[in-house]
Amino acid sequence: MSRYNSVLDAIGNTPLIRLHKASEATGCEIYGKAEFLNPGQSVKDRAGLFIVRDAEEKGLLKPGGIIVEGTAGNTGIGLSLVADALGYRTVIVIPETQSEEKKDALRLMGPEIVEVPAVPYKNPNNYVKLSGRLAAQLAKSHPAGAIWANQFDNVANREGHVVTTAEEIWHQTAGVVDGFVCAVGTGGTLAGVAKGLKRRSGQIKTAIADPMGAALYNWYAHGELKSEGSSITEGIGQGRVTANLEGYTPDFAFQIPDDEALRIVVELVMEEGLCLGGSSGINIAGAIRMAREMGPGHTIVTILCDYGNRYQSKLFNPDFLRSKDLPVPAWIEEKPAFDI
Ligand code: PMP
Repeated sequence: MSRYNSVLDAIGNTPLIRLHKASEATGCEIYGKAEFLNPGQSVKDRAGLFIVRDAEEKGLLKPGGIIVEGTAGNTGIGLSLVADALGYRTVIVIPETQSEEKKDALRLMGPEIVEVPAVPYKNPNNYVKLSGRLAAQLAKSHPAGAIWANQFDNVANREGHVVTTAEEIWHQTAGVVDGFVCAVGTGGTLAGVAKGLKRRSGQIKTAIADPMGAALYNWYAHGELKSEGSSITEGIGQGRVTANLEGYTPDFAFQIPDDEALRIVVELVMEEGLCLGGSSGINIAGAIRMAREMGPGHTIVTILCDYGNRYQSKLFNPDFLRSKDLPVPAWIEEKPAFDI
């Protein structure tokens, strides 16, 4: 057992969990990196820690300073927990459409929360752009100053995955890893892990698993930033090539519809005791597709980004699923199986 000096030392070093059904269906070894076991319960704790440490090293953050960010929720939770531990304050701008459970988890960490309507990136009132303007304003008006975390275009996010996530995967698999695949929000995880693993071995292939409604599948497959359809998944689905993605080229690109991802999420609860969020479903669907492209006998790793309790009112709510024309898994509505 480990003994830590601070909660910050508990970020990272997450286990790899074998995904049995995905492995058996493909003849590959498919593992998920259990990022929901981070203290803020998502992969974004790593970005939070590296962005704050990078700003400190560059002398941009002063004691009592404010960290401002636009986030779908998980980065806000990660940043706020890091800020709480180090004596900074946080202002988080979040689109209203994100799950209530995620917003509640965010509220627990104590940031100032600014909820805004969800509008596209090209709109000046988009949550990311608004957070940038707010940071510039607070930098002038607040005595201890403020920084904009800017996770999408701040490559400290990607660097965190180069030096931690990729290295952990390499050591946990004893170098027996043939593929890595995940979805993109900022691209920090995908491009960072890809960079770190390819540095270890040029043979390792990487892939993007893109939800519907995102533009990157078409960008990497056909050279065109074009989106079609939509997705109920949160925290992923990008419409542009962020700074974190610059210089990254996937070996494979997959476009995953929600029903394919949600079937996997439901089966994992029922058959393997793993209750995950929707982006993990997209990732595992991507790992299965990658395994089929590469053929049996390969080891493929993906990311289990966050836990299902963050989406109980959506992914696991029959009324919500019906409102989105998605299939409702029988077990959610079934009567108790036992007469008690
Ligand atoms: N899944 C979830 C649930 C997330 O919150 C995020 C980050 N927004 C991602 C996946 C994507 O990670 P990244 O930003 O590193 O691309």
